[in-house]
Amino acid sequence: RPLTENDAIEDHLITVCVRKRPLNRREAARKEVDVITIPSKNQLIVHEPKNKVDLTKYLENQLFRFDYAFDETCTNEIVYKYTAQPLVKTIFEGGFATCFAYGQTGSGKTHTMGGNFNGRNQDCHKGVYAMAAGDVFKLANSAKYKHLNFVVSSSFFEIYSGKVFDLLNNKAKLRILEDGKQQVQVVGLTEKVVVSVDEVLKLIQKGNLARTSGQTSANQNSSRSHAIFQIILRTNNALHKVHGKFSLIDLAGNERGADTSSADRQTRMEGAEINKSLLALKECIRALGRKGSHLPFRVSKLTQVLRDSFVGSNSRTCMIAMISPGVSSCEHSLNTLRYADRVKEL
Ligand code: ADP
Ligand code: MG
Repeated sequence: RPLTENDAIEDHLITVCVRKRPLNRREAARKEVDVITIPSKNQLIVHEPKNKVDLTKYLENQLFRFDYAFDETCTNEIVYKYTAQPLVKTIFEGGFATCFAYGQTGSGKTHTMGGNFNGRNQDCHKGVYAMAAGDVFKLANSAKYKHLNFVVSSSFFEIYSGKVFDLLNNKAKLRILEDGKQQVQVVGLTEKVVVSVDEVLKLIQKGNLARTSGQTSANQNSSRSHAIFQIILRTNNALHKVHGKFSLIDLAGNERGADTSSADRQTRMEGAEINKSLLALKECIRALGRKGSHLPFRVSKLTQVLRDSFVGSNSRTCMIAMISPGVSSCEHSLNTLRYADRVKEL
């Protein structure tokens, strides 16, 4: 049954969804088996090939349930509609909205969040960043909010190996400052006022270029960094106070967290850092739904810069777990699904 208006989830603090991408041309060419099925709008089954003791083969079927399960026919528009779009109003109500893309490298995180609008016409897709910005502009200009004259701006930065880099300013290295009131600030982070989706698309393009430049393969460093795109709503008076903030995050490939036994010291340290940040992230999101529980936001730079997302009285979060369908990704897919399962379970 296709998703309908009635399927929209209103006012969940935490929404956890899963998105399966189609087999790509390379996988199809080598006849890779698709081991993921999505039997209903909120269920996903992994059909894991296994061997019995007598070596006969069988499939072990594991069922997972989420708020939504998007199959390979779902577009970015559909995914956006049920994940980030319901959170847009939160920032107008003075809250913090946060949307994470989690999964192994190549599973579709950047496709979903950043979109792809450099390619030829037929493969141009807007991502969640641009669609969320579009709805923020729409709401800011609506009858309900127009008289408040909110100012909309954007930041785009990356956390790589525990360090923060400004993607809108030649990857300038930035410092994080925490004041006595535990307010966290990224010092000197570029924040550009934006008034149209076209402007936002240019910023995304600029940031993505900075993110992947100087890399031998487009997925090398970017798979080891968390990219954070923020849409900031400020009051239009002398104080320019932050009214609300939408953080959209393209997380480091979760398989990188396993790089902790690599022979290369640098890789090992990056792996440990990624592992630490993804574990802290899970605990911080879970704490959202459990009042008074411990919030380990200082454990990693990722959770530290997102502190507001976890402490606010009006904070809402959505996680999209990305799944590669191929049998060769089975282990990683199961890891992703177990992580997402833990985030959801309160
Ligand atoms: P990640 O950021 O998780 O490493 P990408 O977003 O770069 O993965 O996706 C890897 C490749 O798969 C890209 O070429 C991307 O265009 C393609 N892809 C990902 N998701 C989809 C999808 N839902 N439909 C079609 N192609 C996709
Ligand atoms: Mg990516």
